[in-house]
Amino acid sequence: KRKVQPSVAELVSGITSENITSLSRAITFVESTNPSHSKKANAIITECLPFANKSIRIGITGVPGVGKSTFIEAFGIHLTSLGHKVAVLAVDPSSSLSKGSILGDKTRMEDLVRNSKAFIRPSPSGTSLGGVARKTRETIILCEAAGFDTIIIETVGVGQSETAVHSMVDFFLLLKLAGAGDELQGIKRGIIEMADAIVINKADGENIKAAKSAKVEFNRALHLYPQKASQWSPKVSLCSALKREGISEVWVMIQEYTETTKANHYFTSHRNNQNKFWLLQTIEDRLKSNFYNSAEIKTALQNQIELVETGKTTPFAAAEYLLSL
Ligand code: GDP
Repeated sequence: KRKVQPSVAELVSGITSENITSLSRAITFVESTNPSHSKKANAIITECLPFANKSIRIGITGVPGVGKSTFIEAFGIHLTSLGHKVAVLAVDPSSSLSKGSILGDKTRMEDLVRNSKAFIRPSPSGTSLGGVARKTRETIILCEAAGFDTIIIETVGVGQSETAVHSMVDFFLLLKLAGAGDELQGIKRGIIEMADAIVINKADGENIKAAKSAKVEFNRALHLYPQKASQWSPKVSLCSALKREGISEVWVMIQEYTETTKANHYFTSHRNNQNKFWLLQTIEDRLKSNFYNSAEIKTALQNQIELVETGKTTPFAAAEYLLSL
């Protein structure tokens, strides 16, 4: 028996009355590659926009094993105990390849999953980072309209996915371990530069001493970077996600950040700039996919590649020709 699909109006009213089933269904439309679903998703997002925006969006990154899921669980539980509603989303560009993302996996956050004030959604699958990032960005709006005031976006990557997440959050948190060099931790300089906070995890047991000296080092290193446009000086703190220590301090820090950047108006202007960025990004993505998915281009491209490879035309002339189609 075919189920009747809920209408846009039904989903919107479900979402704004904080119904999780409606929220999940709407996200499924956002994530779908079916054009009629995308249309529906766009309509839902537009209707939800007036209810969105009243949140803090926090990006969390770090190499595999640093303790992201353990931290997010501890942090999420702390926030829900304070009465917040927490949504955990993930950006994993490899999720389409590996059939199921390791990020945002519910089995990794067992306590938080059972919490009625928390909503956990694994990374959408997608063929490109751009696609995954756009879907996540739209999902943020739906979660906010559903009453989630704290949005956590988890990512891991070699730089590109961090940049994508950085461009959709207010606060960017880098989780690190003491004792391992940046190279070992796969952390690029650019990522340190993006961070509003560096939290050294696993500061427990025998690690405490190393964690404390790492804190001193990171603080020193951060001083070498120019002042951020937000006028916020990135902070370094210690925590043990496992023992749930140092977690409330991170939340206090994020509140300080929000106060500072709301007072100097960076908070809003930063979000406006992000919207502009995503507008241009979406156009770029769409132009690209329209181009490469056109049957005419596919054939012509193949021909031009052969001509370039056999030296019968130049890459530039070939590109010019293809674009003129
Ligand atoms: P992720 O890959 O970054 O999500 O890391 P996980 O949260 O899955 O943690 C990786 C491993 O580190 C797990 O075995 C955790 O139990 C452990 N771990 C996470 N946080 C801490 C911590 O604060 N202290 C200690 N000692 N172990 C931790």
